[in-house]
Amino acid sequence: MPILLVGLEDLDQCFAILDLEISHQHYFLLPSTWNNNPHCKSHRKHYTSFQVAWQQLLWGNRASWGLVEIYDKGCYNGLNEAAITTRLDMTNLHPACPGQEDILKPNFCPQCGHQMTIKEQAGRPRQTCSQCGYVHYHNPVPGVGVIIEMDGGVVLVRRRFDPRAGWWCLPAGFLEADESAAEGAVRECKEETGLDVAVEDLFGVYSFPEGMQRSGLVIFYTAHVIGGTLRAGDDAEQVRVFSLDDLPDKLAFRTHRQVLTRLRQRVDARKGVLAPGHPGDFPSPMPNVTIHHAHPKHLPPVLKLLKLIPANAKLSADDVKNVALRFRESAGLEVLVAEADSQVIGFIALSFPQTLTGPKAWIDDIAVEPSYRRQGIGAALLEAAVRRARQRGCKHLLVDTAKSNPPAQAFYQACGFDQEGVAPLQIG
Ligand SMILES: [Zn+2]
Repeated sequence: MPILLVGLEDLDQCFAILDLEISHQHYFLLPSTWNNNPHCKSHRKHYTSFQVAWQQLLWGNRASWGLVEIYDKGCYNGLNEAAITTRLDMTNLHPACPGQEDILKPNFCPQCGHQMTIKEQAGRPRQTCSQCGYVHYHNPVPGVGVIIEMDGGVVLVRRRFDPRAGWWCLPAGFLEADESAAEGAVRECKEETGLDVAVEDLFGVYSFPEGMQRSGLVIFYTAHVIGGTLRAGDDAEQVRVFSLDDLPDKLAFRTHRQVLTRLRQRVDARKGVLAPGHPGDFPSPMPNVTIHHAHPKHLPPVLKLLKLIPANAKLSADDVKNVALRFRESAGLEVLVAEADSQVIGFIALSFPQTLTGPKAWIDDIAVEPSYRRQGIGAALLEAAVRRARQRGCKHLLVDTAKSNPPAQAFYQACGFDQEGVAPLQIG
């Protein structure tokens, strides 16, 4: 393998910053034009030139590069460009390597074998077949990734193979042609972690438009576990749950790091408002009753109350298991409980679907222990839900009154909801 040259003190930092998916047994090359400040306007250009150089090296595989000393300046301090230039003259060092065009573009039409020529197509010069009209487009490759929050952390996979063997990342992979993005996410997750998951929400789409050779996007979903056992799949060395406070140092791929940063922010935000054990988070109708966000320990009494709701009377064992999972792990779901003397006497479950017109709050379930009914606890839970929905920027609170019994329907009407079906209440 060729040896590359680096102007960075720390190869790991260099990997992390450049997000290059190459393993440690290689070294790399830093073109003298490279400016390692990612905020630099010409970052993209430099990045591309870096990639081309790397690619040329891989393809050439016969250039005789020498290892130049690793600079001690570090990637953050800027590099001494003059010093690098004296050690590395790319134009002289790899005369045998193919040029960028040779690597990136097919010379012959993959459809008819005719020679390709460059023509402008859809605003860009592209390899075009003058015989059959085939145009060679460089499009990003779509991948899917899965965020599984469980046991107070997030599931990460330690990669067995390059790129980035030995580094950790979220379960992810490339989409197959015959599957939807969500199906691909479920498959990749099973292959890498052994877990059967159900996709919940789109977390975000993260691009890496880093030039012709490696341009793609990753569609990240949140998901919850519905079965399987956490164990490393064939292409994983290890799989485990990491606390977001204690993520491994070697996190592969910029997109995955971006996701984990955002997830951390989201969880922190959730904790900030949801921190359990702060009685009086919401107004209460009685001095001995507190209304606050549910703690995992509240799951058993909430399940008991849940079954009091007529529509839930026939929950199967599997349903109950899924309720438990969602209760613990779903980011788009919040459960508020009313407690009296350390006993849960009522709860309200809210979810926050994203709609075209903004977030909406949806009351999934509300129940109050029979001996505590008609004391204003339901109304207080609803009021807490309205507050919470406002805090999350929702302008509407929705409830499916058809799911409720007549007293509950009367209750919703008394609280100002419309009468039938999915009843919206304007709250903002
Ligand atoms: Zn052709």
